[in-house]
Amino acid sequence: MNAVLEMRSVRAAYDAITVLHGIDLSVAPGRVVALLGPNGAGKTTTLRVAAGVHPVSSGRLLLGGRDATGVAPRDLARAGVCLIPEGRGVFPNMSVRDNLWMMTFTGRPRAEVEEIAFSRFPILAQRVSQTAGTLSGGEQQMLALARGLATDPAVLLLDELSMGLAPMIVAQLYDHVSEIARSGVGVLVVEQFADAVLDFADHAAVLVRGRIQKQGHPEDLRTELASLYLGSA
Ligand code: ATP
Repeated sequence: MNAVLEMRSVRAAYDAITVLHGIDLSVAPGRVVALLGPNGAGKTTTLRVAAGVHPVSSGRLLLGGRDATGVAPRDLARAGVCLIPEGRGVFPNMSVRDNLWMMTFTGRPRAEVEEIAFSRFPILAQRVSQTAGTLSGGEQQMLALARGLATDPAVLLLDELSMGLAPMIVAQLYDHVSEIARSGVGVLVVEQFADAVLDFADHAAVLVRGRIQKQGHPEDLRTELASLYLGSA
């Protein structure tokens, strides 16, 4: 089966400074791929490249086996690429309801957007009138995921979902992410601190200074990550 998202020898730069030095990554439908690495490794840039919001300097980006290098972000979004950026992709001053209703730009009626959100995250139904910024961190991430699901994604790009959240909440969120993947969505998730996501990922890659140092089964990367973080401490 074609990977829903594939990067082949992708390089990317900020002005003259190359920060991704040839990334090879593949995300199959229904699978969770974790990209892990220390501060400044290039994880966020990798997601930005995948969403088309940062240009590829060389190499190829493929969607469903077709070349998507240089395709505009809105066209990639239409083709099913959904980026949930670091720091929760919600509008904090708007209500939960309005955050969801905004997603009617996809052509889905309000009731359908709500159905998608509330069937997976029933807690959001109890919070509809609440301002999104007053939700707990975990609930905000649920709202961000619900908004993403309303776009009917083929691939979800998640940046540091666990940021600032207690381990138990992170585990609950990743349970949801696994279920979303099982419904056929490919997931590429970026995390700096690894342990939680390795329990849920099907495949993992370690990124260091813009290069994938190792990739494979999450269990096989635990030692690599431990020495990396101990080494950089
Ligand atoms: P973090 O977890 O700290 O966000 P990261 O692994 O996501 O790190 P990136 O944010 O992708 O890493 O950054 C990779 C490199 O690119 C870093 O050296 C960073 O300083 C640099 N960089 C990121 N954004 C910009 C920018 N807008 N302009 C110039 N350099 C940038």
